[in-house]
Amino acid sequence: MTIAIYIAIGLVYLLLVIILTTLAKNKRIGPTRTFFISFFLTPVLGYLAYRSSDPRHVIYSKRYVCQRCGFEYTEDKDMCPNCKKEGYEVDLKQVVRKSI
Ligand SMILES: [Zn+2]
Repeated sequence: MTIAIYIAIGLVYLLLVIILTTLAKNKRIGPTRTFFISFFLTPVLGYLAYRSSDPRHVIYSKRYVCQRCGFEYTEDKDMCPNCKKEGYEVDLKQVVRKSI
């Protein structure tokens, strides 16, 4: 009876490893690394690694944000044109945006 329980636990363990490995195809971590983490360090750590990984296709873009009006520009400018029309001279702050 106890052998059947161990076999059932082992099958559930392997099933979780296979599910995580399949899900990780669209993540930056990839299925191979997820498989090894899940198999040797338990599926719990594999799941955490899977969740903390970015999607495979992530685009990073530089943007320049006005700190007064919040408008974003794709090109670097000396100061915000919108705020300049209203009489304010506000420098733009460079930020990096992440999009999927
Ligand atoms: Zn502005």
